Amino acid sequence: MEMREVHWLMDMVTHIDLGLVVFDRSGKVEVWNHFMENHSGYSSTEMRARSLFETYPILAEPWFQRELDTVLLLENEVFITWEQVPHLMAFSAYRPVTAKSHFMYQNIVLRAIHSAEGETNLVTMTLYDVTDIAVNKLALQSANKELAVLSRTDRLTGLFNRGYWQEQLEHTWSLHKRYNRLYSLVIFDIDHFKKVNDTYGHQAGDVIIKLVAAIAQECARDSDCVGRYGGEEFTIILPHTDSEGARIFSERLRKKIEAQVVTYEEHEIRFTVSLGIAQIDSGYDSETAWFEAADQALYQSKHGGRNLVSIAPTPAGT
Ligand code: GH3
Ligand code: MG
Ligand code: MG
Repeated sequence: MEMREVHWLMDMVTHIDLGLVVFDRSGKVEVWNHFMENHSGYSSTEMRARSLFETYPILAEPWFQRELDTVLLLENEVFITWEQVPHLMAFSAYRPVTAKSHFMYQNIVLRAIHSAEGETNLVTMTLYDVTDIAVNKLALQSANKELAVLSRTDRLTGLFNRGYWQEQLEHTWSLHKRYNRLYSLVIFDIDHFKKVNDTYGHQAGDVIIKLVAAIAQECARDSDCVGRYGGEEFTIILPHTDSEGARIFSERLRKKIEAQVVTYEEHEIRFTVSLGIAQIDSGYDSETAWFEAADQALYQSKHGGRNLVSIAPTPAGT
């Protein structure tokens, strides 16, 4: 190669808009290009006098040292993406004012190179600034997460909406079929709710629906699945719970709601709920049959005078 060509090449390597570092197994730096100088604040001369591993302690960590051993031993390339490690070297993001990130996300490629003597004790590190890609991807992920939460949430109460709750019911049924897991289903409905709306207005009704939802959520465990099934109808799946456990839960809920007094425009409003329980059972031929059993029990509570808990009888044939 002519001297002139070498000169061009060196000039390109020095000024290319990505980080280029050449160092040996002990961390001694041979090449530190302009990109690295600009972002690290260390000049090439300074870096040549320092140890790379002492300057950036993450590079001295056993996992990175193992990567270096692999590169030198197998003479292959190793990629370290921002998703594995957001950045190996703490550089400020490129545009400090407009940047959406405080640091530069980096993709790194490590390769072994032969020295003039044919030994492979040198490593090149190429460092790509992938801050824009990383920030966009992270924003998209967080937006998707928010959307997923929104799509399963009931707006008024914050409980699971009917669609999502129904999916959970189907999933619960399949777990029972496969592993014979125990669950109970509780359905409840606010008593004489039409009268509340008619007497105090729809907004007062909404306040009560929200309060009932909050109490149900508070009585339930994290693993219980509480949904708003319809206007003033709520449904709860209780895992690892037989009908007796569900009765204790339901009585606690019933009494708590019975004790509430909502003050709305100088009116004191009291209200009650009726509840129906069905323990899961292989005698039901689908989740729909199980649900209908709980609904029947709810109907019994309404019929029996309201503000009551009823348990569905176990289906015949089991
Ligand atoms: P029961 O004791 O038999 O349950 O009597 P009920 O009056 O509660 O009977 P029903 O279930 O037929 O009435 C429910 C009422 O709930 C009818 C509807 O106007 C009202 N409702 C449904 N959704 C909402 C809502 O989001 N907000 C308010 N305020 N009212 C609602
Ligand atoms: Mg009702
Ligand atoms: Mg109803």
